[in-house]
Amino acid sequence: MSDLIPTREEQDGDGEVRYRMLYESEDKVYTRHIRGLYTRVRKYTGLPLLLGFFFLPWLNIEGHQAVLFDLPARKFHIFWATFGPQDGFLLAWLLIIAAFALFAITTWLGRVWCGFTCPQTVWTMMFMWAERVCEGDRNKRMKLDAAPWNAEKVLRKGGTHLIWLLIALATALAFVGYFYGIRDLVLDLAHFRAHPQGVFWVAFFTLATYLNAGFMREQVCKYMCPYARFQSVMYDQDTLAVYYDAQRGETRGPRKKGVDYKAQGMGDCIDCYWCVQVCPVDIDIRDGMQYECINCGLCVDACNSVMDKMSYPRGLIRFTSEDELETGKTNYLRPRLFGYALILLAMTGLFVHQVATRSPVTAEVLRDRGARMYRESRGTIQNVYTVKINNMDQSPHEFEISIEGKEGYDYSLRKPRDIYLQPGELFSVPIRVSVPKAQLKDTKHNIYIVVRAEDEPSLSDRHQTVFIGPKQ
Ligand code: SF4
Ligand code: SF4
Repeated sequence: MSDLIPTREEQDGDGEVRYRMLYESEDKVYTRHIRGLYTRVRKYTGLPLLLGFFFLPWLNIEGHQAVLFDLPARKFHIFWATFGPQDGFLLAWLLIIAAFALFAITTWLGRVWCGFTCPQTVWTMMFMWAERVCEGDRNKRMKLDAAPWNAEKVLRKGGTHLIWLLIALATALAFVGYFYGIRDLVLDLAHFRAHPQGVFWVAFFTLATYLNAGFMREQVCKYMCPYARFQSVMYDQDTLAVYYDAQRGETRGPRKKGVDYKAQGMGDCIDCYWCVQVCPVDIDIRDGMQYECINCGLCVDACNSVMDKMSYPRGLIRFTSEDELETGKTNYLRPRLFGYALILLAMTGLFVHQVATRSPVTAEVLRDRGARMYRESRGTIQNVYTVKINNMDQSPHEFEISIEGKEGYDYSLRKPRDIYLQPGELFSVPIRVSVPKAQLKDTKHNIYIVVRAEDEPSLSDRHQTVFIGPKQ
């Protein structure tokens, strides 16, 4: 029985236990198009994401692509800043902030990220739009699929798949353009001289987008997205989510408009199934909260339009909380929400401070592995280090290196050449630091190697290391 899962009908408790094989394919979902507040909001939340995604790679700042993840050079250009491998902790920090933001929003508003801004949702919306334009709304699409192949079906289906492929190709080009450089990518592809890896990734992401948004759709949310699985941990009694007001809706059933259905013991739900037909994940919200629900609000729009037609008050399905359904009010001022908000604020503040004050010049210092120290004939002790200087600034600079150490010690430093680095250049230089033996009082002591741009002293980094002398 381990490869079997109960069907929804079984979970509904209609008395009959049925099982579906894990690998059984699901029925195709034909969603009905609906107009309403949440449908509009979804458009407005998806649009900035799409515009940003497609147009950002074309934006140039100071002669280079504003957002470019240059993997071979191990440099990420994000507007005026350049990040390198040494900034990996900032990326980790950013991901932690994003995770906390997600926790806070989910505790407050349920899975609104999934329903309104997740790329899977936004791209699926675009693909559904193409389907609707070429094949019509739900009933027409169902008829078309059931009809035998003819010229009209080929034309309509062909149109849908052509638009899907064009959207998928544009998506892949934009995505790969963040890594390859969008202008280079388009030109190289047009002149058949693109790097094979670039061609591979464009083909891969075209196919992935086409399959994900065209065919897999809700299956991604149901079976592949880990977020759907752990969201219930973040929900509490006061989380705002889409609920069906069973007290008001039951007993459900069809009736004629204007009849006194309450006198017949019926509730406001006319059992029209519109809320199910608009649902992108193919669930019936009247069965209660289900992990598949992405909180998109489309069933709210559908039910509200039915309520309007029946001249019943809106809100039979609405964004509300379990507490509100039971006690009539939602507790917004919850310690958990405050906790998330405070952590988020503190982490974001620290992150912004770290980014704003970080020097685009970094230095790493490695001691010579060959010898602890060298005794020089002129009576000095010499240590050798390798200094790796990374110029992440947008301008070239000449760099000077100096030593800060113990007071009273006469440090001298020798380096083989002047250090002039282009923007983004990483350079390793061996340096020799010497101290008169007579001045050394300890076997080892800390020194700081300071790297500073000569024309802009604020661009500097200071690295602590050890100077080793003879045993005292
Ligand atoms: S049940 Fe309603 S809110 Fe949930 S996914 Fe379906 S349509 Fe969206
Ligand atoms: S749309 Fe509203 S009235 Fe129609 S079945 Fe769903 S809950 Fe009932």
